[in-house]
Amino acid sequence: MIIKPKVRGFICTTAHPQGCAANVQQQIDYIKAQGAIDKAPKNVLVIGCSNGYGLASRITAAFGGGANTLGVCFEKPPTEKRTASAGYYNTAAFEQAAKAEGLYAESINGDAFSDECKEKAIDLLKANMGKVDLVVYSLGAPRRQDPKTGELYTSVLKPINEGYTAKNLNTDTLTISDITVEPANEDEIAHTVKVMGGEDWELWMAALKEADLLADNCNTVAYTYLGDKLTWPIYGHATIGKAKEDLDRAAKAINTELAGVSGTANVAVLKALVTQSSSAIPIMPLYISLVYKVMKEEGTHEGCIEQLYRLFTEGLYTDTPRLDDQNRFRMDNLELNADTQAKIEALWPQVTEENLFDLTDYKGYSEEFLKLFGFGWDGVDYEADISPVVEMEFK
Ligand code: NAD
Repeated sequence: MIIKPKVRGFICTTAHPQGCAANVQQQIDYIKAQGAIDKAPKNVLVIGCSNGYGLASRITAAFGGGANTLGVCFEKPPTEKRTASAGYYNTAAFEQAAKAEGLYAESINGDAFSDECKEKAIDLLKANMGKVDLVVYSLGAPRRQDPKTGELYTSVLKPINEGYTAKNLNTDTLTISDITVEPANEDEIAHTVKVMGGEDWELWMAALKEADLLADNCNTVAYTYLGDKLTWPIYGHATIGKAKEDLDRAAKAINTELAGVSGTANVAVLKALVTQSSSAIPIMPLYISLVYKVMKEEGTHEGCIEQLYRLFTEGLYTDTPRLDDQNRFRMDNLELNADTQAKIEALWPQVTEENLFDLTDYKGYSEEFLKLFGFGWDGVDYEADISPVVEMEFK
């Protein structure tokens, strides 16, 4: 079949296998060009390994440090008539490249929140990899079923206490209008914390410790976004921000739990960029288009892979990590630079439908969005009639 993008709102329902492979290869090439990472981990578990920041973490560990990796993701396989999800093709391309270099690379396609998935990971680690020295927790999930009670929790993206009206770009119609988001109630806040907070991260670490699969001096890291004034009402000070605050609580609890193996747990604050998760958050597409515009002009623009390389070299594996007073690695320093934010804030009220492509880098945003699904990569023949089926043996 000839595979074209089919975009519905903030999701593209098709993916191109060769384009996804090109995406993975470009990130591998970037990491290899930086040279080997000193003191890099050798056995790495990545929970949320198939897209965005988790995929970049896995690539950095494997191709910057020669690590064996076990990945966990939740992806849709292809059929003869339907493409797989992008994360499926990304994972297939990653495994092929890692195995070609003699690295162990296997992936579980399942619900990371379930006990069954944790048990499977433990069995695979025991059989094939041994103790892990880094666990990356990088899930972007809209819902979670509690493994003990079976109750289903759904997260919401809403402000807290009072409603919020803000300028929003509709990426289907390219119209800009105010949207009003009503405040979340207590239940919605609690549900969002249950899905995106630290409880499941703690369950993973407890299960790994119980199975004696944590190496001495192991690290674990979970990802968050803090942002600044423009995004606080919908992110930092909103339901998702509450859930992310819970990661700080969980990091402290895990640190206590890991004392016996001298392990450490940190939250890492990363910058805003286009991923399948962030494009679903109101106002983020417009904010990120402005971030891209300003940071590209400044020469400070970074994607997932550049952020992850810095997390490894300026956070996790250096004697002088950039930590804040909450013990979080700060890789969002360039985005949150006061001058950069001032430029974005000055542009924000001026953006209209007419000047969208001049004042913001919406062009770059939308191209990058399509690239997440394998569309728009040089060297890929998008008119070619190809099979969507890529063989991949998930665990
Ligand atoms: P993403 O949508 O690109 O990737 C999410 C990953 O989670 C995928 O690998 C997916 O398969 C996996 N996943 C989702 N549900 C799962 C489940 N039930 N079981 C197993 N795997 C599952 O997301 P992303 O933007 O890379 O976000 C990853 C983390 O980084 C999140 O915690 C997010 O808050 C954080 N973060 C994102 C940004 C941003 O701008 N994108 C900025 C800072 C921090």
